[in-house]
Amino acid sequence: MFCTRCGTKLDDAARFCTKCGAPTTAICVPAPFETKKLRRILRGKKIAGVCAGYAEYFNMDVTLMRVIWVGLLLVPPNIGLIAYIVSWIVLPKE
Ligand SMILES: [Zn+2]
Repeated sequence: MFCTRCGTKLDDAARFCTKCGAPTTAICVPAPFETKKLRRILRGKKIAGVCAGYAEYFNMDVTLMRVIWVGLLLVPPNIGLIAYIVSWIVLPKE
């Protein structure tokens, strides 16, 4: 193997470059970013699991999310109702 910094040929077991001292392996390889998926959560659901799904997605309290949904449902032009039904149909079950 070769040093990633200076290109010196190194022993495969070497942990540091003998010439420049650079570590041969990346010290910290970040784990692949786990993308959250918006979905309906069926455990603990009240109607269709939409609120729980959104709550998890936005890292919010389920109760708070329900309050927001109820607000959207009751306040004209009632976009909450449309959004809820669309979510219900579109979002996959967990
Ligand atoms: Zn080196």
